Amino acid sequence: MAIPSVDYIWQDGELVGWDQAQVHVLTHALHYASGAFEGIRCYSTPSGPAVFRLVEHMQRFLDSAKMLYMELPYSLDELCDAVKATVAANKLQQCYIRPLVFRGYGSMGVDPLDAPVQCIIAVWPWDTYLGEEALAQGVDVGISSWRQRSANAFPPQIKATASYLNSGLAHIEAVHHGYNEAILLNEDGKVCEGSGENIFILKGGAVITPPVSDGVLAGITRDSIITLAREAGYEVREESLVRSQLYSADECFMTGTAAEVVPVRSCDGIKIGTGKAGAVALELQGLYFACVHGENPAHGGWLAQL
Ligand code: PMP
Repeated sequence: MAIPSVDYIWQDGELVGWDQAQVHVLTHALHYASGAFEGIRCYSTPSGPAVFRLVEHMQRFLDSAKMLYMELPYSLDELCDAVKATVAANKLQQCYIRPLVFRGYGSMGVDPLDAPVQCIIAVWPWDTYLGEEALAQGVDVGISSWRQRSANAFPPQIKATASYLNSGLAHIEAVHHGYNEAILLNEDGKVCEGSGENIFILKGGAVITPPVSDGVLAGITRDSIITLAREAGYEVREESLVRSQLYSADECFMTGTAAEVVPVRSCDGIKIGTGKAGAVALELQGLYFACVHGENPAHGGWLAQL
């Protein structure tokens, strides 16, 4: 996906021109995947652009950095302010936001601790991740032959850059097989998540999603959907799933900041429910979009105005 450039990127405490935000080829993270990132969205609302669940994202960013032994010289508040300042400087109404913390230039070798910790925040206009049609009609997914990174290899609960080698291999394989997205199972055969999305099914009227302890990212969209589904009167359970439960589900959908709320209409060529975007998936998608666009006052607290 090409990146539409904007004017400024926040780099190590200051806004610099898009083309000036550069690193050395011996940057540690390029060689040893010593980094972590976030994916956040800013949406237009009646009171101007607002960042969805900014504090939760930046807290997860700090948690990821901590688990990778990287100490950021910025507080949670400073990071949130930096995100808002970057969106504002680029005069964007809606955008994707990519904070990245990484080990920079200065030392080589597996031990990252002598390489400096660097941080950037980039923003760019980014429409739907899997496409407008995907949001309305649903996508086709396939179970990956690659297993989800093990919690005992590197933690799936954090957004380490290294995790996305695993996600990328699964996604490429799925696309080669003619699917839109991959679903990864863990080593025990439990359903985990998509390459960049959490997964839910609807069965017997209940909304079910795998627990974080099965090795999934604690998605912030996942958390929002759990809340919205409960408010809409659905029973929501965090429960392990095996692949056959995807095939026999009444509905299935995926959630993520980039992907938003995407119905899944088939898995491994087997129709899920009617083989069309499910009614409950679309209902929850509508509730989600209302929140991100500031149309649900009960969840105004999820939005950080610039
Ligand atoms: N799982 C993975 C592997 C992801 O990369 C993402 C995207 N961050 C998600 C789930 C969804 O997380 P969130 O809703 O916080 O974007």
